[in-house]
Amino acid sequence: MAEFSIITNYFANRGVNRKDVILGIGDDCAITTLAEQKELVITTDTLVAGVHFPKDTPARAIAHKAVAVNVSDLAAMGAEPGWLSLAITLPEQNEQWLEEFSAGLFELADYFNMQVIGGDTTQGPLSITITAQGMVPQGTAMRRDGASNGDWIYVTGHVGDAAAGLELVQGKIDVPEKYRSYLTNRLHYPSPRVLAGQTLRGIASAGIDVSDGLLSDLKHILNRSGVGAKLNLESLPLSEALIESVSEEDALRYALCGGDDYELIFTVPEAKKGSMDTALSSTGVSATCIGQITASEDKLDLMLNGEVLEDSFAGFEHFKGR
Ligand code: ADP
Ligand code: MG
Repeated sequence: MAEFSIITNYFANRGVNRKDVILGIGDDCAITTLAEQKELVITTDTLVAGVHFPKDTPARAIAHKAVAVNVSDLAAMGAEPGWLSLAITLPEQNEQWLEEFSAGLFELADYFNMQVIGGDTTQGPLSITITAQGMVPQGTAMRRDGASNGDWIYVTGHVGDAAAGLELVQGKIDVPEKYRSYLTNRLHYPSPRVLAGQTLRGIASAGIDVSDGLLSDLKHILNRSGVGAKLNLESLPLSEALIESVSEEDALRYALCGGDDYELIFTVPEAKKGSMDTALSSTGVSATCIGQITASEDKLDLMLNGEVLEDSFAGFEHFKGR
């Protein structure tokens, strides 16, 4: 495969040029500067065809998602996006596929003012690995380990849509015509909550993005912070599309156990709730209070209309198992 022509034609000299990039694509490494008083925040995620996305996913959507999942990790730390590298393994040199893929990649990279500064191109089964780097003012990153007893638990946007979208494209469920493109787009074109993440720095005590599912991702906050939680399931923010498309039980199952929403879960001490409302309203992102952190380490109570539904994470199998 003509590796160099792929790099030159589709990935080099494209997109934004950031002032802090000293040397971009073309040498053995890229070189960037980092402003004083800032810390570097780094993340990597791989998407494998047939594992992380269905094989027939449009190239533009694969690229969008590959960038979005990485940017969502930056958002979950409260970081400002900076640079990204792309390691791509391609089964063949398909010009149209590459055209669409690079269009999707640079569309999102440009939107977040990220420069593509390097990568690797190899032949094999389709797989995309992106490394994204961002920055935060020293000591301000939003981590998983800061939640305390009494903090309120919030989630941005709506949860469960992407999981319903996946079952829809897999032909496992059918939904009313008018909700099809909304749910599919929530799966293929997630919107990382970058501004919300940045604005929550210094306000949220802990944060994480929803990639594996609300419960398993919340569990990471609980583990790392040494706390428990009580969730009010009737408060979960479900979209109209989800409510109108599936049963109440399925909607809860998607919202709790489905992944790929790329919303943010974060915890806020009572004393910071006011600042949180003010900060978030300036970003236009909604956040819903879904429960509260408790002192009982690693214990999760799921409440529905005031009654304890399930105790401990084993109870999720009830939702997950179907
Ligand atoms: P090396 O062999 O020194 O690792 P390569 O020949 O793999 O370098 O790549 C040449 C240049 O092109 C490097 O700057 C590399 O970062 C960049 N590059 C390679 N593949 C990609 C890609 N898919 N997207 C963006 N940049 C790439
Ligand atoms: Mg080299």
